[in-house]
Amino acid sequence: MPAPTAPPVLLEAGAAVGETARQLTRLGRGDHVCLVYERPEEHVAALVPYIRQGLERGERCVYVVDEHGVGEVAATLRAHGVETERARARGALVFLSQREAFLRGGRFEPDEMIAYFRRVEQESLAAGFTGVCATGEMSWALGPEPSREELLRYETLLNCYLPGSRAMANCQYHRSRFSPEVIRDVLRAHPRVILGDEVHENLFYETPEMLLGEESAARRVEWMVRQLKRVREAERKLVMMGMRLSEQAEENGRLYQEAREAVRARDEFLSVASHELKTPLTPLRLKLQGLKREAEGNEGELVPRERVVRAAQGAEQQLRKLAVLVDALLDVSRLTQGKLALTWEELDVTEVVWEVVERFEQQAEKAGSEVEVVAEREVVGRWDRLRLEQVVTNLLSNALKYGAGRPVHVTVAEERGRAVLVVRDEGIGIGPEHQQRIFGKFERAVSGRHYGGLGLGLYITRQIVQALGGSIEVESEPGRGATFRVVLPRTTPSPLGRGPG
Ligand code: ADP
Repeated sequence: MPAPTAPPVLLEAGAAVGETARQLTRLGRGDHVCLVYERPEEHVAALVPYIRQGLERGERCVYVVDEHGVGEVAATLRAHGVETERARARGALVFLSQREAFLRGGRFEPDEMIAYFRRVEQESLAAGFTGVCATGEMSWALGPEPSREELLRYETLLNCYLPGSRAMANCQYHRSRFSPEVIRDVLRAHPRVILGDEVHENLFYETPEMLLGEESAARRVEWMVRQLKRVREAERKLVMMGMRLSEQAEENGRLYQEAREAVRARDEFLSVASHELKTPLTPLRLKLQGLKREAEGNEGELVPRERVVRAAQGAEQQLRKLAVLVDALLDVSRLTQGKLALTWEELDVTEVVWEVVERFEQQAEKAGSEVEVVAEREVVGRWDRLRLEQVVTNLLSNALKYGAGRPVHVTVAEERGRAVLVVRDEGIGIGPEHQQRIFGKFERAVSGRHYGGLGLGLYITRQIVQALGGSIEVESEPGRGATFRVVLPRTTPSPLGRGPG
């Protein structure tokens, strides 16, 4: 059927075919849908994707149209990017004249039409197509001859034939060309309806049995109950979906806040970390520069030994501080990757505490705090020595740092078979709102201007204590000091056999 030159186009290319197209992809073989439309753009929006999708699926697209309409339809498809001529040349797009296809001897014969449909399907499959994607304007069917009853019968027979077949049909009804009675029948006879740019599940659809047979009141009631349930079910699903969406929105909001908070903590950490790392570096550089200056200024004379020793001691002290910071950073990265290896051995916490306190003698003096240890007897258990030392070190150094020069009290005891370590100071204390937070990574409750620190000590401490199977808690009142209490089981924790037992 050659297309006439420059036929009119139903709608200019670029008209919105998006939403209907998306919904049409849910339709497939066996589906029977009607397009009830008023405006040409609704017509195009449903048909172009319908044909395009059929071609893409390797189906034969059969378009029933009266002879005069072929050029117009072909041009519209072409204008919307369907390779009409190519598809027609290989038989993938076929325009059937209504007269030759459906009107047997000028009469509209529903059973004949279904038989015809079946033949088209068989031929198409035999020709290598994956199925049939049929559509057509139905206005012709109500020519002078066929009655409303015959049209309804035809649509109903399609409902018997299509499910299970490799064909689908989209019957086009322009509302102004049919009486309301016909449109009502059409709406009863299609399981799905395209209205505007939406594909609707049809609540008014009636089964072939209901439409064609003598329908009993009982069956009718059954159907009505089913429909009511469907509506209820759809409502229920919507409400559930709404609830899920609002939960999701809430969760997204929470995640967003968390992500923002993490970014804030990271940025703050980077600035604190660079400041902290620089703090020991500056005196270290000054010490070395001073020594160099002296050596250069001495013109061949040796720099006195005690000056070199003092400078080296100063430099060493700053290096130690640097090493502590770097160690903390390394610990955090190990902990984050879950690679904290523990070496279990029998230890006495009291002994560990005394060792650490001795190491802190100078620092305590500098801070003006006296460290009082109450640990009358040994408390032995199996732990990791270095990690236990780290716990005591972190708590003691915090107590001295935030202890406002007042005494610090360290107690070791045994309670119900567990080792208990308490480090108490009488310093600045911690507000209740910060008491949980400070055990988090990079979390601090003081300003970096007044107190240096990376906000990692307590994080690492808690991770170690937990790895040793114990717990850590804080009690504090701002301005009245803080008490950190660590409880450790005395045997190796069993989970996953972390240690040698
Ligand atoms: P850092 O001391 O490097 O900031 P920590 O993880 O050791 O990191 O401590 C986290 C925060 O907890 C500190 O910044 C401080 O605000 C608070 N903190 C810890 N120990 C004490 C303490 N003994 N007294 C008061 N505040 C403390």
